[in-house]
Amino acid sequence: MSATFTARAPGRVNLIGEHTDYNGGWVLPAALSVGIEVTLAPRSDSSVAVSSLNYDAPAMRELSDDAVGEWSDPCVGALREANALGLLTGGAALDVTSSVPEGSGLSSSAALIVAILKAAREAAGSDLSDVDLAIAARRVENEYMGVPCGIMDQMAVALASPGSAMALDTKSLDWEILPLPAGHEMVVVHSGLTRKLTDGRYGARKAECDAAKRHFGTEDLCLLDQAEVESANIDEVPKRRALHCVTEHQRTLAAAKALRDGDVARLGHLMSESHVSMRDLFEMSLPEIDTLVETAQGLGAIGARLTGGGFGGCIVACVPASERGVWMAELLKRHPHARFIDAASAA
Ligand code: ADP
Ligand code: MG
Repeated sequence: MSATFTARAPGRVNLIGEHTDYNGGWVLPAALSVGIEVTLAPRSDSSVAVSSLNYDAPAMRELSDDAVGEWSDPCVGALREANALGLLTGGAALDVTSSVPEGSGLSSSAALIVAILKAAREAAGSDLSDVDLAIAARRVENEYMGVPCGIMDQMAVALASPGSAMALDTKSLDWEILPLPAGHEMVVVHSGLTRKLTDGRYGARKAECDAAKRHFGTEDLCLLDQAEVESANIDEVPKRRALHCVTEHQRTLAAAKALRDGDVARLGHLMSESHVSMRDLFEMSLPEIDTLVETAQGLGAIGARLTGGGFGGCIVACVPASERGVWMAELLKRHPHARFIDAASAA
């Protein structure tokens, strides 16, 4: 039997800082207890065999395959990257076990790719850093799969562990691990609406940001002056997108400070303000999600917001730990399509 190597990466929930990671800003994701585990057996030929409990039949692919819109694309892309990094010299058999729901804004794709790269690093006995692997994992999504995401997901799942959040400057890649607020839980609730990052709306928002970047002559929309954006002579749509980026970045800096200060009330307030900005300025929410967020707040969450790329997926709510059971039961009674995914809290 050939040697096997196993690695795990967690899912992540972004507490605040949405669509800032490709606009020069900060993000504040937290690692979840749900995760993806991959067992990798290197092969001497160039074939890729993937079995996943999420899919009935295994996928048989070749390292030379382009991305074709199949579920095994991230696996092929990750193995190609592992070869490019010198961690493998051929294909592999992969066994995937996951508790991260797919397409829900909890980064199942990044967790899968990072877990494969970590297993390949193990196979090679390499000392490549987690940051190196996060950057490589982003290349898989951007260049191989054609998903125009930023670096947040890959950094969070490669470096953060459950119980803490990661304040990440996506421009410098400086990061700080911050404890989650004591006595509270960051509850992740799936809206019941699924979206795919490849469905075009995420890309459309990125293109609108690109239009704003061209106007302002900068890659870093998040770092612009708010008054300058407000008075700029540009179309309303790119202006709204840029204003979201500027204010969301400021909220994320403030949220990181609130975590450092243990000021949970402030953190919750910023989360709810972030939802309003995603709803009205970035226009990435859905009416059903707005209602879910309002119910979450009405039932006692200190703050609540859509999380992830948008247009479906999950919300995250900051709820006093002692109230979570009743809060959750009442929320599910009013929103029967919603479902509890995970709750992150201080370790
Ligand atoms: P998200 O990252 O928000 O969960 P994406 O659409 O970016 O959503 O990634 C989902 C894709 O990741 C799936 O279509 C599939 O290709 C891959 N994937 C995620 N989880 C698994 C799994 N358990 N087994 C196989 N592939 C998976
Ligand atoms: Mg993804």
